[in-house]
Amino acid sequence: MQKLLLHPKPYDDETLTGYLLRLSLKNICNPKYIFSRLNYFSGKRINNYFIDIAELDPHDLLIISELTNNNLERILDLIIKQNSMSNQSCLFNEKVIPLFAVCTRKAKVCPICLSENEYHRKIWCLVTVTACPHHKVMLIDSCEVCYERLSWAKGNIFRCSCGHMHKKTKGVGAVKECLKISEIMFRKLGILESNSDNHFNEPFSCVDINCLICILTLLLRQLYKVRDSRSFAGINFSLREYADLQSQVLEIIESWPKGYHSFLDNIRSNQKYYDTEGNKAQIYRDFGEFYVSIFSDKNNTYEILKLEFIEYIKKHIDEYSSASLFRILNKNEITFLGLVDAAKYLSIGTDKLTRLIENNVIIGFVPKEKNMKYTYVYKTSIDSYINNIRENEYLSYNEAQDYLGIMLGLDDMVNHKLLVFHFEDHDYSKTRFISKVEIDNLMFMINGKVVIKEDYEIEKIPFAKVIDSGRALKGPNDYI
Ligand SMILES: [Zn+2]
Ligand SMILES: [Zn+2]
Repeated sequence: MQKLLLHPKPYDDETLTGYLLRLSLKNICNPKYIFSRLNYFSGKRINNYFIDIAELDPHDLLIISELTNNNLERILDLIIKQNSMSNQSCLFNEKVIPLFAVCTRKAKVCPICLSENEYHRKIWCLVTVTACPHHKVMLIDSCEVCYERLSWAKGNIFRCSCGHMHKKTKGVGAVKECLKISEIMFRKLGILESNSDNHFNEPFSCVDINCLICILTLLLRQLYKVRDSRSFAGINFSLREYADLQSQVLEIIESWPKGYHSFLDNIRSNQKYYDTEGNKAQIYRDFGEFYVSIFSDKNNTYEILKLEFIEYIKKHIDEYSSASLFRILNKNEITFLGLVDAAKYLSIGTDKLTRLIENNVIIGFVPKEKNMKYTYVYKTSIDSYINNIRENEYLSYNEAQDYLGIMLGLDDMVNHKLLVFHFEDHDYSKTRFISKVEIDNLMFMINGKVVIKEDYEIEKIPFAKVIDSGRALKGPNDYI
């Protein structure tokens, strides 16, 4: 194998492909001379030079190492490594990122960075990086003079085929949103210091870079209904179009959760099959692929989107009726209970529960039409009802008897007008309730004056026995 004469050193943050192209330029040799030696291209026409995420075999690595006069470790440092845990992701500066986040065909550069030092930075390969935080300019993906796209399919990413050197491009001030996202990407990958105050708001501030890229891409994809996220890594979108979408995505994130709710509103209203006949909507039909993407993901990548999606559905609960609704909404925590479960949880009958729901005491949904099977109740609403009944005001007959804590018959005490039955409005039935405060007052009055013998065998003592004998009020040691 013929040796190359000049051996510029690779930079730490340089792409391997960019380095090899630079090397060929330096040596004034056709890049094909280098690349065609690799097994990776054997028997193929080279229509894309990008090899940074390619699985290069030991032979190829050795060839590169010998041709460039670098040791093997140095070459291995340059490539974006495979993630042994998943074939859908790779390791970028030791951080897991999705494979689709790496531009494999389209090339982008910061012209100012190039003018300072003409080599291709690895970070520019990230789909989500659209601006340069160092120079606050947009990256470029096409020639300033003839508009031809920069691409790894060409053997030169520094000079356009029209002769224009990209480092001479003036650069356009970065769009604020693109700069912010790019800067966060730089920081999460350890390329920029992390002392800037350019952060995402909650709940996105602590999300790892892998989730972040997935979330940004999913929202962006949904915005323009591009089905295959990988198309962003190709040349289907110009950087300008992509940057425009990116700004819209940032708006959703920065106005979280309101922005996300309107985003979901938009998905719904854009559904072709949107039903205007008054039938209940179905979640799948309304949100289709977006819903599938966030719920079918097993790694919790889209957890934030999923949780807030549930909040959104809760707000629109009466517009949905389907068996899958519970399954969806209770996926993370029990949010809704069906009629029977809720009644059991409350220890009341389903009739009473229905009355309570119909009178908005407990928040839930009772289907008006017969063909709808599902009544459901917000669990939080049940819990607050229970607290209200328990702590606040009225006890059911049995609860009152328990609460009394002494073996005196409740009916007796009512007969003696020491307590009163209340027929609570909110129950919408003839159920008897006792005011907890009234019991408290009564207990306070007789406290220490009535003592129950521990060996007394009768379960409930007729109160008349206590009152009529007059002994109950005599003193602590005097009892029945
Ligand atoms: Zn720059
Ligand atoms: Zn050009």
